[in-house]
Amino acid sequence: MTKIIFEKSIKGMRGEILTEEPVNVDFIDKKYLRKNDFLLPEVTELEAMRHFKELSDKNFCIETGFYPLGSCTMKYNPKVNELLASLEGFCALHPLQEDEDAQGALELMYKLQESLKTITGMDAITLQGSAGAHGELCGMMIVKHYFKTRGENRKKVIIPDSAHGTNPASAGMCGFEVVNVPSNEKGQVDVEELKKLLNSDVAAIMMTNPNTLGLFEENISEIARLAHDAGALMYYDGANFNAIMGITNPKIMGFDIVHLNLHKTFSTPHGGGGPGAGPVGVVEKLKEFLPVPVVDFDGEKYFRKYDLKNSIGKIKEFWGNFNVLVKAYCYILMTGKSLKSVSEDAILSANYMKEKLKKHYKLPYDVPCMHEFVLSGDIQKEEGASTLAVAKRLMDYNFHPPTIYFPLIVHEAMMIEPTESETKARLDEFIDAMIKIAQEIKENPENVLHSPHNTPVKKVDETQAARHPDLRYRTDA
Ligand SMILES: *Cc1c(COP(=O)(O)O)cnc(C)c1O
Repeated sequence: MTKIIFEKSIKGMRGEILTEEPVNVDFIDKKYLRKNDFLLPEVTELEAMRHFKELSDKNFCIETGFYPLGSCTMKYNPKVNELLASLEGFCALHPLQEDEDAQGALELMYKLQESLKTITGMDAITLQGSAGAHGELCGMMIVKHYFKTRGENRKKVIIPDSAHGTNPASAGMCGFEVVNVPSNEKGQVDVEELKKLLNSDVAAIMMTNPNTLGLFEENISEIARLAHDAGALMYYDGANFNAIMGITNPKIMGFDIVHLNLHKTFSTPHGGGGPGAGPVGVVEKLKEFLPVPVVDFDGEKYFRKYDLKNSIGKIKEFWGNFNVLVKAYCYILMTGKSLKSVSEDAILSANYMKEKLKKHYKLPYDVPCMHEFVLSGDIQKEEGASTLAVAKRLMDYNFHPPTIYFPLIVHEAMMIEPTESETKARLDEFIDAMIKIAQEIKENPENVLHSPHNTPVKKVDETQAARHPDLRYRTDA
């Protein structure tokens, strides 16, 4: 059993001791001074290092193994990105530096904006957003402000029932009423149902394409036309951009506002809460609504531009998560014209796995998919082990489980996204593990139900864990 660091504490143990002299704190007002001793574990520097190394070894990450977490695009993040993002000129730059002293950083931001314009087809970009959901919030604020300046009070935002939860949350935070449009038997937005919902009260339709089932919305051009005819805007959730790079773009599909998840598509390690970046792109007529400052170039120097007529204001302090921008720019330069093959390979990998696995798991929508696909664990549940158990059992085989129970419209959903960066050999290993688990459930569902067996933490009581978290690490649980 791993002890917590306080249990390793031995009185008097120290790392480097800089000074034995008491520090002079006379200049600090007494009311701000600590009354009691500071409770710190007392360990040597070596023991502190061992402790944290031991904890980090228990983590699962993309460097440990295959991580097919649908919707999240857990791809390989080239290590050279980290090297470049940690260059002193970037990471020691003060955010309040004058423009003339930060030309390199501004140039990088400007050129990243230009690249993202090309990739999305949009006419202007802000890099401020710090995650996908933050980009959505920014986009919805733009929608709100756009109609306000037009003197229109549109109250509704239409969102498909397959949407990611952040979509209704972002629209709701901007005061919009969310209206769900159902999916049809093909897993796509039901256009006839949509027509019934569209009227002069609708501000926007929020969609992701391919949708969260990994399916391309075939009627997207018609949907965009219907929305525009009703005076509404089209919002594109770009979390699934890994499926379309260089193949198509949201502009071609008819969208007006787009957010990207740089940490997903453009390779920044993510999970556990960030850091990410969620730039937002808009078409010409919405340019003036972007948050300030945007980065511009006058032919000689790069500068921060504040005078946007209808700007929604600032949505993030300073520059957004600048280091994530550096990594995304490196990735785009390094990949260059083969960005298209990134998406093509991601699509090929997903279809390969889907075809292999559909003989063993229910495939609710048996059509070609884009970069991910959704299986149902209905058959396995009937045999005695649900999707949750399949996911836990995969950990015994050293795989990170796929996204489960999302999208909500598929029972016992397993959303699998292999990405382009895995070899066929690795995909085959995962396929074999999934097939083996399906077999195990037929023979001995109990064993699968009680998995994982080989991980540092065994099966936990999820309700207890959520209500009464005990953050000590145990092997006896
Ligand atoms: C990940 C994701 C989001 C939210 O992005 P964050 O960067 O996690 O805030 C929104 N929509 C979809 C479809 C996603 O997969």
